[in-house]
Amino acid sequence: MYQYKRSSELFDVSKKYIPGGVNSPVRAFNSVGGTPIFFEKAKGSVMIDVDGNEYIDYIGSWGPMILGHAHQPIIDAVKKAVDNSTSFGAPTELEYTIAELICKMAPNVDMVRMVNSGTEACMSAIRVARGYTGKDKFIKFVGCYHGHSDSFLIKAGSGASTFGEPNSPGVTAGTAKDTLTAEYNNLESVKKLISENLGEIAAIIIEPVAGNMGCVPPDMDFIKGVRSLCTEHNILLIFDEVMTGFRLARGGAQEFLGIDADLVTYGKVIGGGMPVGAYGGRKEIMDVVSPVGPVYQAGTLSGNPIAMTAGYTLLKELNENPSIYQELSDKTEYLRKGLIQVFDESGVNYKINSMGSMISIFFTDVDVIDFETSATANNEKFPIFFHQMLKRGIYLPPSSFESYFLSNSLSYEQLDKTIQACKESLAEIK
Ligand code: PMP
Repeated sequence: MYQYKRSSELFDVSKKYIPGGVNSPVRAFNSVGGTPIFFEKAKGSVMIDVDGNEYIDYIGSWGPMILGHAHQPIIDAVKKAVDNSTSFGAPTELEYTIAELICKMAPNVDMVRMVNSGTEACMSAIRVARGYTGKDKFIKFVGCYHGHSDSFLIKAGSGASTFGEPNSPGVTAGTAKDTLTAEYNNLESVKKLISENLGEIAAIIIEPVAGNMGCVPPDMDFIKGVRSLCTEHNILLIFDEVMTGFRLARGGAQEFLGIDADLVTYGKVIGGGMPVGAYGGRKEIMDVVSPVGPVYQAGTLSGNPIAMTAGYTLLKELNENPSIYQELSDKTEYLRKGLIQVFDESGVNYKINSMGSMISIFFTDVDVIDFETSATANNEKFPIFFHQMLKRGIYLPPSSFESYFLSNSLSYEQLDKTIQACKESLAEIK
């Protein structure tokens, strides 16, 4: 029987010194209740908490652990790199090496700038798009997340073409007015915003496969339509590949979907578990970035040698072993089929979306294609399911608006165990 005594004690003391006891809100288990699990160590797909409980992990540190935790080549390389200093704040050969590899793996990326998080990558890409096009506004999609920079924390008002309004105190109305919100998988909502703001839109930023309203794949006509509209109206298309980059394919969602973006942002996998983000694109666009061009963007620890070592070691392995992506898809498909079977037997309403190694279960009977439909699954069944799975040793994202990220270290035996746990958990829901 799982017990969380030490986690509970640590949560109590943490709350005294850290807002909500956590350094990123989703970790607080707010939408599922209960005590967040405090972890001690992890290897492959197994995480061990401070009470000694073991879990099969479907979060993978929210994406980076595509080959599992404490992946030996990364650990070995990082241990070696640490001896040479943890930071130089000056150029290193490694930065060139990883940049060259990224440009080789990612389509339409001639140049790349390393930053320290996905937030920084997206924030900088928008600035570059504005600097390059000389326009101020941009379109994002309801339910897509691009980090916590002010201009992204905008919720949609009613209707497809409303102007943004702040949804976090601290984001000014002045900032919000330049963020326009369209609906995912709804091309008409994009067309409407463009026609209402002709000549004023610098960029459209999108999660090419959404993961922040659960996993929501794009309709191909929609995403192709967005590409065409961007080309037609001189708008830069920014693919936020913080989740999908180097995960769906070597070349990320661009390669997976066969759609070219003008700018791309990366995070998660690119750092092998260290705090890394990046943005990149064609040379003529990236040439606006300082010190070559006037668009300022900088970072004391950007290109940090330890972070670059971890990222490079992981990317190199992915680049040299493309079969990893097929193996990951096969495992995800195996899990999906197993889950479908136990859900069908249970009689509980559900939808499952998946693409590549991203997958989500939704407790709803409507097809999940955007934020509104995803929100129908944010109901009382989800927390019950979450805790039933947790006490069977399955660690799922503690929110119905998150995707699971599979790791290639998952064995078929672990997938079977997960499906069995799901079967037992569903019996508790009814
Ligand atoms: N973009 C996407 C698509 C994300 O999923 C995230 C984080 N989940 C971000 C940007 C922000 O990245 P970070 O948390 O590293 O700042």
